[in-house]
Parts: sequence; structure tokens; C-alpha cells
Amino acid sequence: MYNNLKKIIHSVLSKKNIFKIEPYLRRGWSVFYLGSKHQCTICKTKFKNWISLPNQDNVCPRCGSLSRDRRLWQLIEQNYLKPHSNVLDFSPSRSLFRIWKKQHTYYTATDLSGDFISDNQYDITAIPEDENTFDLIICYHVLEHVIEDRKAMNELYRILKPTGTLLVQTPFKEGDIYEDYSITTKEERLKHFEQEDHVRIYSVEGLKNRLTKSGFKVEIKPFKKDTFYGLTDNEIIFVLKKN
Ligand SMILES: [Zn+2]
Repeated sequence: MYNNLKKIIHSVLSKKNIFKIEPYLRRGWSVFYLGSKHQCTICKTKFKNWISLPNQDNVCPRCGSLSRDRRLWQLIEQNYLKPHSNVLDFSPSRSLFRIWKKQHTYYTATDLSGDFISDNQYDITAIPEDENTFDLIICYHVLEHVIEDRKAMNELYRILKPTGTLLVQTPFKEGDIYEDYSITTKEERLKHFEQEDHVRIYSVEGLKNRLTKSGFKVEIKPFKKDTFYGLTDNEIIFVLKKN
């Protein structure tokens, strides 16, 4: 039902209008889910059920967060939510964009694709910001879309403050990084890289090596399943500092 409704809404409304009315639609829809078995870490609403997506992920009925959004926000609230922090976020989900805008931070969202709500449209391989600018940079599910990912990593290093933190996540596979730039069509990219706009699949070790070469001190944080907050098992977040 939810997935069908979503399809209909996306077919009749523009992205801009969806963003405007989404909170009201979700507020109405979420009353059918209210309960005490689960809680969203972002909007803090309690539910009896999550909305289940075709890929098995659990969506918050109230704010629309995915499991990885809720884990990220939990980590941010526990460690990085400081007044007057200067934060740059690449292609954030709408639930995270909205909660960030309510905080007393200097939060900037950027997205080049046009698929996400944002303040700027920065090219991650040539970011128009001064060096040592940001206390926190979030780069979630972005690098696997970028052909010149080493250039992007160097740029992220350049604009991060010496005391700052960069949080990175991508999809992962076992073994080595898989990339082949002769694969350029949507169909072939979907077949090889699991999404039609991905240009590679990283391995944990492969991503670690590339980020280390860009100068970062790399910490790989694994997380466990949490049913109450709807968080998945074996989720990995890269926590990066400047060396
Ligand atoms: Zn929520």
C-alpha cells in the first residue's frame, strides 16, 4: 500500500512539491503505525511497525528515515552535535536535512545530481570552499557514484578542519574494489554495480586504502542490529580524521 501510494505521488507531483507536502502526508499516514515497539532516533516517534520497503529496509512512518539515516543520526547526536559546528552534508536524505536545519549549527547540504534537497550544487572533485573549513563532513553513499573518487577524497581532506571528522559510508563487497570505467550504460552499471548510477563497488579494505592514501586516519566502526530503533546488522561507518 505505502509503496504504491509513493509511486502515485511521485508520478503526479514535482520533487519540489513533494518536499513541501511530504511532512503533512507522512504525519497523516503515521497514525496507523503508532505504538511502543519501535522508536525512530530522528523524529523520536514510537511505532508498532516500520514501513517495509521492497529491499527489506525499514522506513520510519513519520519522518521517512531509512535504517542508515537513523544510525547516522544516533552517532551524530552522541558525538558530533555541537553548537556552532560547521557542517557539510553531501546528498542527505530529506529526514536528515530537516532535522539538521532545526539544530544550532551552520549546516549546508549539497547535491550535484538534483535528486536531493540541498543548499548548494558542489562538484565533490572541486569543492568551492576554503581549506580547513568544516568541523563535520558527511559523505554517505556518494563516492560510489564518482569516477574521480581519489580527487574527491583529496578535496574532502582539504576542506576538513584539523580537528574535524568526516563520516563516510558506501555499499561494500568482499575482496577487492570492483570498478571498470568501460561500463557506462545504465543497464550495465545496474548489472555490475547494483545501481544504474554507480561506477564501482568498494570493499572495506579497498576504501580504507584509498582514504589512507589521501591522508586520512581511518577508523572502521561496525555496528550491530537494533530492533527497537530499526537498525541493521553489520553496518559499517568510516570515521575519518586528518593525520
Ligand atoms: Zn522518524
